[in-house]
Amino acid sequence: MDILVIGGGPGGYVAAIAAAKRGAKVTLVEKDMLGGTCLNRGCIPTKAILHSAKLFHEAKSFAELGIVTSEPQVDYAAVVRRKEGIVKQLRGGVEFLLGKAGAEVIKGGARFLSRDKVAVKTAEGEIGLEAKNVIIATGSVPCNLPFLEADGKNIINSDHALALCELPKSMVVIGGGVIGCEFAQAFARLGVTVTILEALGSLVATMDGDLSALMTRVLKKDGVDIHLSCRVQGAQDTGAGVCVTYTESDGTQKSVTADKVLVAAGRRAVADGLDAHEAGVAMDERGNIPVDGGCRTNVSGIYAIGDVTGGIQLAHVASHQAEIAVGNLFGDKLEMDERIVPYCIYTSPEMAAMGYTEQKASEAGYTVKTGMFAASANGRSMIEGMRDGFSKAVLDAGDGTVLGIHLAGPNVTEMVSPFAGVIKFEATGEDVAQMIFAHPTVSEFIRESILDADKKAIHKV
Ligand code: FAD
Ligand code: NAD
Repeated sequence: MDILVIGGGPGGYVAAIAAAKRGAKVTLVEKDMLGGTCLNRGCIPTKAILHSAKLFHEAKSFAELGIVTSEPQVDYAAVVRRKEGIVKQLRGGVEFLLGKAGAEVIKGGARFLSRDKVAVKTAEGEIGLEAKNVIIATGSVPCNLPFLEADGKNIINSDHALALCELPKSMVVIGGGVIGCEFAQAFARLGVTVTILEALGSLVATMDGDLSALMTRVLKKDGVDIHLSCRVQGAQDTGAGVCVTYTESDGTQKSVTADKVLVAAGRRAVADGLDAHEAGVAMDERGNIPVDGGCRTNVSGIYAIGDVTGGIQLAHVASHQAEIAVGNLFGDKLEMDERIVPYCIYTSPEMAAMGYTEQKASEAGYTVKTGMFAASANGRSMIEGMRDGFSKAVLDAGDGTVLGIHLAGPNVTEMVSPFAGVIKFEATGEDVAQMIFAHPTVSEFIRESILDADKKAIHKV
């Protein structure tokens, strides 16, 4: 089978490797860098900077651990060099894996000429490809606000923020979603004065309300000035900083001036320039390429995966959809199960969730019972010096099925993925109670929170 993959992010490169390993003749077209947003401008570089920020923050309290050091300082140029080294090494790894799997990689921008024909603009000129089976994985880019375009100078988006070589003195972050909060904590901990302006009533509003509330408390502790339910009107670069004007929730007009303004107000699909309509592929009014649960577009043999579909914008979702699309091209019958998508935020404490939030479970018609267990009562969290956090379990009050888990604490992003077994196979709280969690681990608080839904937690009164 011949398969053409357009886009080399975590959707496209995984599709290419998976297909090549199943014996397909694969061509991957990437117009920029292998690894896409995630590796070059997203997951990896942000986490590298967050890691430096976390350790710098912790180093200030080394004396509490009995470690004597001189006062720690930030060398941001070194932070950036380390981040770039990690990205470069991982990008080389992706290239190596594609080559070893036997996938051909063409550097250039692809566009459809018809159902079966694609033109690729390369540095050497345009080439034509024939393609019966296509996987579109062209990803997403940062949204601009209608009244505020990120020009890369003092008004920036996440791409520009990751390319900064020096720390600004101050920054206004417009948007308190995942990108806004991760950057806010990283920069604040590295010494930048950070203000968040968020339109909704809570930060990371799609997470469970208790996690959102904790995020606000944690960022405030880091010195971030947070304004919720506010409406940004505009921003003007005055030469002495960018002045952002906004209306507070009570209607008061305010302004804040900072060296940089980071627009972190969501991302939009990239299908412009792809001419998908030439192949008959339908797009919605927002520029997404909609797919069914098996990643099929409206055109037989053409699949779409990852951010371009307008679904959940996460790297692991793009990669999972890649394997679904490839499997289905080979005749498997695979479907995406959104119940088991892990949602992780890499601040400290880390946050991680799977399944229904308390609010969403109630909206879906469940009668819910919840259990809570605080990180401050967990031995390992204390040892790690991270008392902010909790495990919150959401269960069906009727039959005890575990519907969702919401975690904050040390390394919780490492704990949430295996929880898919609990949610997918509809285990009950009783089932989880029979599991043995190693001691001393942070993960013990997951079992305790589930027991707490029936007031049976051992280490809680
Ligand atoms: P992309 O990674 O965007 O890749 C698409 C690729 O297609 C690009 O390389 C692009 O150049 C190429 N392309 C586009 N059009 C064409 C064309 N016509 N021809 C050829 N090539 C083309 N997700 C997580 O799961 N965890 C995180 O911690 C996380 N952190 C993030 C932090 C930031 C700052 C950002 C911005 C995003 C983060 N994400 C994270 C989201 C994650 O990066 C995306 O969900 C993921 O990259 C989507 O993968 P994709 O393959 O669909 O698209
Ligand atoms: P988002 O949708 O999570 O958050 C955007 C926020 O901006 C929202 O809270 C929204 O209310 C706010 N907003 C929009 N317009 C505004 C305005 N005019 N004024 C004030 N606030 C405004 O989007 P994002 O944070 O840009 O992230 C994009 C995607 O990237 C997310 O969907 C996420 O899945 C992915 N991502 C994931 C991770 C992770 O997994 N750790 C990290 C970063 C990004």
